[in-house]
Order: sequence, then C-alpha cells, then structure tokens
Amino acid sequence: MEPKRIKRGWMNLRIDKVIPETHDTKTLYLVDAEEGGCVFDYQPGQYLTFRFDHLEAKPIVRSYTMSSSPCQKTHIEVTVKTVPHGVVSHYLCEKVKEGDILRARGPIGRFGYDPQKNAPRLVMIGAGSGVTPFISMLREYTRNGSLAGGAPQEMILIVSYRSEEDLISWDLLQEVQQHLNVKVVVTLSRQHLAGFRFGRIDGDLLSQVLGGDFSNRTFFLCGPEGMLSALPLFLGEQGVAPTHILTESFF
Ligand SMILES: Cc1cc2nc3c(=O)[nH]c(=O)nc-3n(C[C@H](O)[C@H](O)[C@H](O)COP(=O)(O)OP(=O)(O)OC[C@H]3O[C@@H](n4cnc5c(N)ncnc54)[C@H](O)[C@@H]3O)c2cc1C
Repeated sequence: MEPKRIKRGWMNLRIDKVIPETHDTKTLYLVDAEEGGCVFDYQPGQYLTFRFDHLEAKPIVRSYTMSSSPCQKTHIEVTVKTVPHGVVSHYLCEKVKEGDILRARGPIGRFGYDPQKNAPRLVMIGAGSGVTPFISMLREYTRNGSLAGGAPQEMILIVSYRSEEDLISWDLLQEVQQHLNVKVVVTLSRQHLAGFRFGRIDGDLLSQVLGGDFSNRTFFLCGPEGMLSALPLFLGEQGVAPTHILTESFF
C-alpha cells in the first residue's frame, strides 16, 4: 500500500479555477502553489481550515469541506455558499480570482464512511451547502467503485435546497443516479416544482424515502442546527443506534 501523503502546517493553495454553481455559490479549484496538484491524501467528508490575515484586524479562520473526490489528484475543490453578511464566504464568492493564494491546513475531520464501523447502507442527509461532503462521497464511490476502502451496498442522498436557483451540483446529482446503488432525492423548501419534493427534510420524508426501513443503515447529517437536533431524535425513535448517526455542523 502507498504511504499516506501528508503536508504539515499551513499550505499555500493557488486558485486554479472559479466555477459558478448558483447565484450565491462558487466552487474553487485549488492546487498546491509550490508543487502543483493535490499533495495530500484525504477522505471524502474531510475539510480544510483556511486562514485569512487581511480581511479583518485579526486573522480569521473558516473551514470548508472538500467537494472533490480524493481520486482526483490534479486539484481539490471547495464549494462555498455566501451567507448573509458573511465575511469570508462573501470574499471567496465575490472577490477572489484565479491565481490568488489561500492559506489552509488539513485535512481534518471524521465525518465520513468507515467500512469497519458503519452499516453498509448509507443515508446522507444535507441542506444547502451541507451537501458538500456528500458530493465528495458520491464522486468517490461512483468514479472509484469504493469509498474509504470499502464498498457501501447503497447510497441514498436526501438534500434540501430553498428553490430551483439554489440547486448546488445539480448536473452531478443527476449523473450519479445512473449508478445502480445510488438514489438522490431533492426537496425544495420554498418552491413547488414538478419533479421535486416540497418542504424541509423531516421524519415523514425519511420514512417515505426509506419505505419505513431504518435497519442496517448509517445516517450522515450535515446542515443547519435545527435539522441536526430534530432528526437524530426521530432516528432514535425508529431504533437507529447513536453510533449509526453521524452529524457535521457548519456553524
Ligand atoms: C467543518 C465545517 C465545514 C464547512 N464546510 C463548508 C462548505 O463546504 N461550504 C460552505 O459554504 N460552508 C462551509 N462551512 C461554513 C463556513 O466555515 C463558514 O462558517 C461560512 O462560510 C460563513 O462564514 P463567513 O465568514 O462568511 O460568515 P461570518 O462572518 O462568520 O457570519 C456572518 C453571519 O452568518 C451566519 N452564519 C455563519 N455561518 C453560517 C452558515 N454556515 N450558514 C448560515 N449562516 C451562517 C452567522 O451567524 C452570522 O450572522 C463549514 C463549517 C464547518 C465548521
């Protein structure tokens, strides 16, 4: 087995491309400024911490999850959604340009599939920018045939966006559904639209999508605080053990 590639300390990452995703979300392609490409190994679901020395009087740090798949060695991607009055998200979505250097360290985090510990049927539940870890997991699984060295039996993504104009990575979400074991359910919380569910993700929607079968599944939740507190309670009531419920908060 190849040794794991690590880059210690703060890295300089050069912005190679800026891709508009939606009206308020961009994907940045990043490469190592000194060596080019992606020079560290990571697991889908992990994030980098970025440090900005010039945006405010004191340095500020923010984390962004890699939306790329680790099997892409040419670059990494982060997908950033502007939050209202958000200092860093506004800077990354509106101000940066190709060639700029960002300081980052990582990868960090344990929010990912572990074939040794997790049940083989994955249910990934995200809202808004909370879809990013799942984009990475789905890319890795559909392109590489495995995820973190294991092969999940099934991957179901349930994601909520506000409306049609907020659909992050829509092309990719359609593409991955061609894969036999992958299912994607999108619900819009503020717009009725043919082909989409309507409303936020709640227990009723989960029960419908899973046909009431909560067994032998691991649930990954990433989104706003309300969702992260309500859904684990519901899942507990359905008999899902806490060890099979993993959450990641973006706040
Ligand atoms: C582990 C981790 C991974 C993350 N991955 C991603 C990612 O892949 N993509 C992404 O877009 N963001 C991600 N985030 C969120 C990101 O780190 C920032 O918190 C977000 O971009 C807001 O930073 P800001 O400086 O623009 O806002 P700030 O200036 O810090 O905050 C401005 C206002 O926005 C509110 N706010 C702060 N964060 C959020 C948020 N996440 N959603 C809604 N309102 C918020 C604050 O309460 C405040 O009122 C992640 C966070 C964590 C902890």
